[in-house]
Amino acid sequence: MFYNIAIVGFGLAGRLAALALSKQHHITVFEADDEHTPNSAGKVAAAMLAPLAESVLCEPDLALMGLDAIARWPSILAELDSEVFFQQQGTLVVAHQQDKGDLHSFAQRLKPLQHHVADNLNGEQISQLEPELAGRFNQGLFLPCDGQIDNHAFYNASFRVLNKRKVKFVFNQRVTIVGNTINNRPFDYIIDCRGLGAKGDKPLRGVRGEIARLFAPEVNLTRPVRLMHPRYPIYIAPKPNNHYVIGATEIESQDSGAATVRSTLELLSAAYTVHSGFAEARLLTMQSGLRPAFSDNRPQVTQQGRVISINGLYRHGYMLAPSLVAEALARIE
Ligand SMILES: Cc1cc2nc3c(=O)[nH]c(=O)nc-3n(C[C@H](O)[C@H](O)[C@H](O)COP(=O)(O)OP(=O)(O)OC[C@H]3O[C@@H](n4cnc5c(N)ncnc54)[C@H](O)[C@@H]3O)c2cc1C
Repeated sequence: MFYNIAIVGFGLAGRLAALALSKQHHITVFEADDEHTPNSAGKVAAAMLAPLAESVLCEPDLALMGLDAIARWPSILAELDSEVFFQQQGTLVVAHQQDKGDLHSFAQRLKPLQHHVADNLNGEQISQLEPELAGRFNQGLFLPCDGQIDNHAFYNASFRVLNKRKVKFVFNQRVTIVGNTINNRPFDYIIDCRGLGAKGDKPLRGVRGEIARLFAPEVNLTRPVRLMHPRYPIYIAPKPNNHYVIGATEIESQDSGAATVRSTLELLSAAYTVHSGFAEARLLTMQSGLRPAFSDNRPQVTQQGRVISINGLYRHGYMLAPSLVAEALARIE
């Protein structure tokens, strides 16, 4: 069957839906922002795919869905016209001496994920995994199944491929969905991927997150490192070309304003305590975004007539979206 389908929102979920549907159907994408989608949470995000680390914070079925979703990312990225960095070499979790209790508590709250279990590490084993951390930490954990992608490269490459597939884009239009119509135009299906933009229709809240992007030529970490921190888990995610994402704060606030001095100091000082090479790093951007979340922090796929909605991805958009979007699109008959 060939359908005329509208996708509302060209953030993370909207992009994945467009990639899947444009192979068979005629697609029109409506996006409130311009083509760079600076306000999409998916653009700001660190794009960690960390079901084992996040199992401490989410329910077991979501962590398992995260494992399924990681397995889907390589074939999604293989459709693009340029290589997008994808890595699945685990997460290293470390703690400074004074935060050892937090590391212990984190280890106890990890949930079993099929055969994937955390390994306890001593200082020697930490330095075998990450030679530049030699002598800095004497205990940690290795979470083998976790990964990450380069979300900026994914955003750019997905837009190029969708253009080649003749997807129609309508940017700078914050549209309203009325029945199965947009701007009075009917569609066979509408895929609602508005994220927090759907707040007027759905009981969503924004959960503020701030994140730093650095260029750090003196730092050579090979996989994401999580540092136990009393207020929120801080991760250092190495992206290609010595770029690092340091994130992320998690604050119950709808404020989407620029990052605060306090958060900037906390994130950057934490990174510096992990590796002194961050002292000479260049601060490329310090951004903030709002994660779309329902009150239980669980994602929802819902359908009303021919409108299928994917929302509430909270802090697990990259971790879950490939599986959730597939589940949503399976409803198209
Ligand atoms: C700081 C931070 C760090 C994060 N790190 C991670 C991470 O490491 N791993 C992970 O898995 N997840 C992470 N996330 C979460 C992830 O980014 C989100 O869960 C995900 O982006 C949500 O996807 P979405 O498509 O629902 O919404 P979005 O990506 O926000 O996209 C929604 C789009 O819809 C558009 N829109 C809204 N209303 C309308 C309208 N009426 N008409 C047209 N367009 C509209 C918006 O402009 C936007 O472009 C992070 C988020 C933040 C903020």
